[in-house]
Amino acid sequence: MNVDKLMNELEKKHTGEVEYLQAVREVLESIADVYNENPQFESAGIIERLIEPDRIVTFKVPWADDSGQVHVNLGYRVQFNNAIGPYKGGLRFHPSVNLSSLKFLGFEQIFKNALTTLPMGGGKGGSDFNPKGKSDSEIMRFCQSFMTELWSLIGPETDVPAGDIGVGAKEIGYLYGMYKKLAKENTGVFTGKGLNWGGSLIRPEATGFGNVYFAKEMLATKNESFEGKTVAISGFGNVAWGAAQKATDLGAKVVAISGPDGYIYDPEGISGEKIDFMLELRATNEDIVKPFSYEFDSAQFYEGKKPWDLKVDIALPCAIQNELDKEDAEKLISNGCMCISEGANMPCTPEAIDVIQNSDVLYGPGKAANAGGVATSGLEMTQNSMKLSWNREEVDQRLHKIMIDIHNACVENGKDEDGKVDYVKGANIAGFLKVANAMLDHGVI
Ligand code: NDP
Repeated sequence: MNVDKLMNELEKKHTGEVEYLQAVREVLESIADVYNENPQFESAGIIERLIEPDRIVTFKVPWADDSGQVHVNLGYRVQFNNAIGPYKGGLRFHPSVNLSSLKFLGFEQIFKNALTTLPMGGGKGGSDFNPKGKSDSEIMRFCQSFMTELWSLIGPETDVPAGDIGVGAKEIGYLYGMYKKLAKENTGVFTGKGLNWGGSLIRPEATGFGNVYFAKEMLATKNESFEGKTVAISGFGNVAWGAAQKATDLGAKVVAISGPDGYIYDPEGISGEKIDFMLELRATNEDIVKPFSYEFDSAQFYEGKKPWDLKVDIALPCAIQNELDKEDAEKLISNGCMCISEGANMPCTPEAIDVIQNSDVLYGPGKAANAGGVATSGLEMTQNSMKLSWNREEVDQRLHKIMIDIHNACVENGKDEDGKVDYVKGANIAGFLKVANAMLDHGVI
């Protein structure tokens, strides 16, 4: 495989799809050696078949606001690869959603899902609809309109969506309700469902929990732990609160959370009622993290800033792609940060990753470190198939074990002669080999 040649061809075909091209290049560079050592991959055109989605469906989503005004958004589903199981990946509702961001997320999802050890392929979908500031009725009408197009593409053995940015329990409820009406069946086609209708305990906090479990394993390779460490987290959404909760449980002090408008620094730690308040803020659908500093005297709001200029031991970027750049990485490193573990998908820019990987800082890439969410979605699917529910401890234990197994797979495939582990390489190779071998088994299809 010649990475530059492949990338040139891909760039010509998909000019301007920046995030997607960035994600593909990162994977190709990591797996090039393993690929070239296995000529059966080249002759079967595995990489050419893997970097293009199986199909992309685009549709319009008309909906009426509360005043009767009609709006039209775009809806997408990218079914990327189903070599090891049904397509699986969340739906994102955010104004930034476009084909490039969904192709990047769907591509990443293939390897992430393979790493979980569960039988799930990769996909992603969403819309440029912004649920922020919309009433419940508007969100419901939008979700119902979106589902009138999506329902025929998905099914429990075909394609199983979940939530992502802008798609939480409420949206999944409306989407699932419409699916059930149209498909005339009550099957586990979504994950992240409500507990009363087939959801799994721990699913909401699973990505954050899993990220902390992964970071815990990385820290253990240096005889370190979360105990007594300070932690900065970006975002104050689904992933961020789970990470804040678990880091606190393990004895760390979370001193920062953030939103698009700035960050909160609280030297007394963000735990207990403060995490509950963070959840309340999130539920209001407002777009500011600032009210946190009005509520708690110890908290200070830094407008327009990112939490990466703080002196912390551990950084958990849990907000959005490309939110931590080269300068941020340099600041974290010079302030003595020892571990950066990605709760979000691709939050570090390629330049930031270069800087981090050239330092002694432990770096957990999202496709491994945030795989706990989809892993628990896989556990939700298993419970739905068995038509029973596991208790909290059972789901948490399984999630914890999966994160340890993912960490071990990264170490096995990413350790160099000096014993240093490149977790990016390890995650990409482990995920790729599983999918590529399944594709070889299935023939050219
Ligand atoms: P949420 O919408 O629940 O939370 C995202 C949070 O990030 C919000 O608080 C949002 O604030 C904030 N945010 C957005 N842009 C910025 C920015 N530029 N700087 C700081 N904060 C910002 O989404 P999730 O927590 O579900 O997802 C977060 C990330 O984790 C995404 O990359 C997602 O793909 C990834 N992920 C999520 C999984 C899951 O299970 N939910 C699984 C695996 C990965 P505001 O609401 O004000 O915009």
